[in-house]
Amino acid sequence: MANTLPVSDEPSSHPVHDRELEAFRTEVRDFLDRVRELTSHASGRSTLERGRAYLAARFDAGLGAIDYPVENGGRGLDRRYTEAFRAEVSSRGFDLHASGFGIGLDMCLPTIRDQGSEDLRARFLRPGLRGDDVWCQLYSEPGAGSDLAGLTTRAVRDGDEWVVTGQKVWTTGANYADFGILLARTDWDVPKHAGISMLVLPMRQPGVEVRPLNQMTGVAHFNEVFMDGARIPADWVVGGEGDGWRMAVALLAHERSSIGSGGGRQPIPTDRIIDLARSAGRTAGPLVRQDLARLVTGTRIIQWLNLRQGIHPSIPKLWRSAQGRLASQVTSGLAFPGGAAWLGDPMGTTEPGDFTSADGSHWSYGICDSRAHSLGGGTDEVQKNTLGERVLGLPREPAPDRGLPFSQVPKNA
Ligand SMILES: Cc1cc2nc3c(=O)[nH]c(=O)nc-3n(C[C@H](O)[C@H](O)[C@H](O)COP(=O)(O)OP(=O)(O)OC[C@H]3O[C@@H](n4cnc5c(N)ncnc54)[C@H](O)[C@@H]3O)c2cc1C
Repeated sequence: MANTLPVSDEPSSHPVHDRELEAFRTEVRDFLDRVRELTSHASGRSTLERGRAYLAARFDAGLGAIDYPVENGGRGLDRRYTEAFRAEVSSRGFDLHASGFGIGLDMCLPTIRDQGSEDLRARFLRPGLRGDDVWCQLYSEPGAGSDLAGLTTRAVRDGDEWVVTGQKVWTTGANYADFGILLARTDWDVPKHAGISMLVLPMRQPGVEVRPLNQMTGVAHFNEVFMDGARIPADWVVGGEGDGWRMAVALLAHERSSIGSGGGRQPIPTDRIIDLARSAGRTAGPLVRQDLARLVTGTRIIQWLNLRQGIHPSIPKLWRSAQGRLASQVTSGLAFPGGAAWLGDPMGTTEPGDFTSADGSHWSYGICDSRAHSLGGGTDEVQKNTLGERVLGLPREPAPDRGLPFSQVPKNA
């Protein structure tokens, strides 16, 4: 892969650097022109297939891992280049990042890049970045969501393999994933945070059963995952045995910053809601105008928060979550009675949740889906607890089980 541009950690407005950045933008625009066909709805291929084709082309063009080290298949470029890429993509109406590959690209792969062994990096980064492998995140369990460290999925060493037994839930994309980043308990005799390991689970094996969960949106994005004697090679541990909590937090930081900065589930876009208000003849109403102004303001605030370096990822995530709820509430009022209809609404039905094309989706899909913003990636309450404790320095929540060996912590039967 070509690496013709300089590596630098420090953004700079030096004229040479500006010229290099402009050359990079031109490279990105040329690439996007070349792959427009691949990403088009008109191709008739599924969202996943289009995403896979796009990612392969992007990786092969040297644009799939702009900020990854060169030895891991990347370009080793700084944040200005990833931002420039993002800006070019969004200015041309592409939205492929989230189409089934976001959990790998935004969460699992950066964690393996930063924390994984050389073998894991060599095995997983390239196929993940090219879209050859799809990833899911096996964290939440029926009894461990916000209290994630209370998880009870068990991994036991058996020769040169781990054997995994337990259940996960809410697992986005598990029904088409090749690999899952798994949190499992490997030691029950130490306090709960200390006995967890992060492993890479091959999803397509007899010990793994995936059952889709149908949502009120009419689609099944989530799944239950049952593991009964599932097998994992002994060295597919990210970070090290017992170091899973630290790995889990590192991955969650990637998840929250990706959600905050525009990855994953999207609020109904403000410009579509303004179009809706226009077509409903409602733009003169003072209350409608006020709502639209709040939406425009929220959109701007989120953009500006993302320009700030070093901001705690829970802050933009909370803003995104509030924006998602507000957008849904305003849309419900404007689209009524069509907002409640599932068929025959003005947006058509081609791709649930895809508001990027004129024939995007039901308003009702976006309205129902908006409840997920304040849950996925950690609930609003948990984000606020995190900000209170880690940013404001408030006292920590009481945790009577913190020092107890996990085997002695009272649990539901
Ligand atoms: C769209 C979406 C996608 C998801 N994708 C995945 C995925 O791919 N992989 C995965 O592993 N998980 C996934 N999840 C699960 C998600 O991480 C959990 O739903 C979330 O962490 C909350 O856990 P819970 O549902 O068990 O709720 P609970 O933890 O039971 O919380 C119930 C309520 O209690 C509140 N609460 C709990 N503890 C506290 C506290 N200490 N202080 C204040 N309030 C508290 C919560 O805020 C919430 O309102 C997804 C969820 C959604 C909605």
